[in-house]
Formats: sequence, C-alpha cells, structure tokens
Amino acid sequence: MYKVTSGSSLQKFISSQYMKILITGGAGFIGSALIRYIINNTEDSVVNVDKLTYAGNLDSVGEVSKSSRYAFEHADICSKSDMFRIFNYHKPNAAMHLAAESHVDRSISSPGEFIQTNIVGTYNLLEESLAYWLGLEQQQQNTFRFHHISTDEVYGDLGSSDSLFTETTAYDPSSPYSASKAASDHLVRAWHRTYKLPVVITNCSNNYGPYHFPEKLIPLIIFNALEGLPLPIFGTGSQVRDWLYVDDHACALYQVVTRGTVGETYNIGGHSEKKNVEVVTTICNILDQFVPLKQGSYVDQIVHVADRPGHDERYAIDASKIKKQLGWTPKETFDSGIAKTVEWYLNNPEWSAGIKNSQRTEVKQ
Ligand code: NAD
Repeated sequence: MYKVTSGSSLQKFISSQYMKILITGGAGFIGSALIRYIINNTEDSVVNVDKLTYAGNLDSVGEVSKSSRYAFEHADICSKSDMFRIFNYHKPNAAMHLAAESHVDRSISSPGEFIQTNIVGTYNLLEESLAYWLGLEQQQQNTFRFHHISTDEVYGDLGSSDSLFTETTAYDPSSPYSASKAASDHLVRAWHRTYKLPVVITNCSNNYGPYHFPEKLIPLIIFNALEGLPLPIFGTGSQVRDWLYVDDHACALYQVVTRGTVGETYNIGGHSEKKNVEVVTTICNILDQFVPLKQGSYVDQIVHVADRPGHDERYAIDASKIKKQLGWTPKETFDSGIAKTVEWYLNNPEWSAGIKNSQRTEVKQ
C-alpha cells in the first residue's frame, strides 16, 4: 500500500501511517523550502496555511504544489474561526509553525504587526492546536507534535570571544522582532508545561538560499549588483552571523518534528560565522566569475550606510545537541551554499522578475 523511500519512511510503514503536516507560513522563504523538502523526500502530505503578506509567494512552491499531497489554505493564523476550521477539516498529525513577521528593520519602524502575528497569532494557534489535540484519540494524541520554529536572535548578541548560544542560554532579545519571537517561545513552553501540549522548539541562525525575499542581505546584494545599484552595508559590516543554507534547515526541521523529544529545544546552526562585509565581498567575487563586468569588480558598488539602532554584534550557535541526539549536521559549507545560491538567482530570472515590484530597500544583516 505504501512506497518505502527512506529510513524514516520505513518507520512509518511499520506503523502504517504517513503524516499530514500543517505548515504555517509555507509561502515564505523557509516554509517553502520545508514544503519542497517534504514533498520531494517523503511520502507525507502538507497543508500550507499562509496569509500571503508581502513576504509570501506561492511561486516558491510552484512545482510541488501540483502534488496530490499538497493543499493550500489562504488564512491568517490570528483568525480563530479559520484555524478551528482548518484543524478540524484537515486533521493533521503535526503542526509546524513558521508564519511570522520576520524582518528586523520593519519591526523597528512598525512593531505592531510583529506583536499581532508573532505573539497573538502564536497564542491563537496554540489555543486551536490544544483544542484539536484534546479531541484526538489517545494514540493520535501521543504522536501529535506542535513544532515552533524560532530564531537565535532571542538570545541577544555575543562579544567576539563569548561562547556559542546553547539551548540553555538566557533570553536577552534586542529588537521588537526578537522580543516578539522570544515571547512566542515562552508561550509555547507554557502551553506544554501547563496544558501538556506536545511541543518541540527550534532556534536557528540566519538562513540563506533560493527564493529569499530581496529585502534580506544576500538576495538584496545579488539583485542590486546585477542591476548596477549600490550594495549597502550597515556601518563597518563587522557584525557576525552564523549562516545556514535553507535546505539544511528544512532537513533539520523535519528530523525534529518526526524524531525530536517532546518538550525539548534544539538549536540549529551552520557553523559558518561570517562578517557581513565578508558575505558581501564573497558574493561580489562569485559574480565577478559568473557574470564579469566590462570593467572593475562588483566590490566597487559597496557603500556603507548608517548602522541599524541596537544592531546585534554577533550570533553563533552551538548545534551539538541536534547532532548528538538526531544525527543532523549541515551538508553545505558557506562556500558551497553561497555559490549554489548565486547560481540559482542567475538561473531563475522569472522568479526574480516576479518579485521585483516588491519593496527591497531594507537589509537584514
Ligand atoms: P518570511 O518572512 O519569508 O515568511 C513568513 C511567511 O509567513 C510569509 O509567507 C507570510 O505570508 C506568512 N505570514 C505572515 N503573517 C502571517 C499570518 N498572520 N498568518 C499566516 N501567515 C502569515 O519568513 P522566513 O524567513 O521564512 O522565516 C520563517 C520562520 O523562521 C519565522 O518564524 C522566523 O522567525 C524563523 N526564522 C527565520 C530565520 C531567517 O534567517 N530567515 C532564521 C531563524 C528563524
């Protein structure tokens, strides 16, 4: 009856059940990578629940959306009636919660949306998940998971010689974005502790890769470079981020939702600490090789702009727990992942053209 495709599929074959996973924010950058990963690598089904804000783009799931194992629900996670209907109609075995306002600069200029979606939306989703979970039979209750996808930014920032963020690092968020994500993490833990909802939480470092909305540093630099526009770097560009290729994140998320321990938090990182200025220079060097300018280098387009208020200096993740407990490590190094990323943008001008009318004046660094 079922086709066995991998070790984890074998486990499900034995229990005669593939999963149906409700994914919020599946039209976004990481959510769409997760949906592509699940449809292409497993026999599970997905229900993509997305409000389609400026950051949502259904082209990012274009190919896999043709699968009979894919369904889309255009809905706001803050809507109680929509979430009630979606849970009870689709009857998922797990919910993976990625929907969020995710851009730090937007959170500084207009924090209200961040409070609404990231905190109130998560609260609403927890309430509807809990009501749904309480109505399940015992066996289904035991296997249900609510997986909250969060960020390393909840931990605040590190000095250059500080040790890496671990799962027990105290929360110390700096921006309205990271504070709203920290609040949502606390709510998820409280719903586990108080109501026994079976949750897992992941906190991940900066992602990059295909289908990334061009207000974020890496796609912005690629787009601007190719159009001969300035390549803006906040301040001196000395801020350090730990970069992870998005498909590696998708793989880690799937390991956690299927094999993670209830109530646990897992940090996910790329072991690839880079200064922002190094990231921009690396992209310029790759473009110099793939699409050389008639004269000079893309590096000549770099401009330094006023620094972001409260800008975090360094993020770096200790991902040894997920490695030890679930055997996950990233496949891509920064060098291999960034080369693939630049190549993808060069080879997919139609996706880029579709997104070009959107805003892209701000930078996530
Ligand atoms: P994104 O901004 O690209 O996508 C967010 C998606 O959520 C969009 O499709 C948007 O339409 C949808 N959405 C927003 N508000 C919604 C609402 N009220 N109801 C339903 N859908 C809504 O974000 P991303 O970069 O893919 O990040 C996904 C998650 O991962 C976020 O929770 C973010 O905090 C977390 N995260 C991101 C990074 C990163 O580097 N991008 C790193 C660590 C963690």
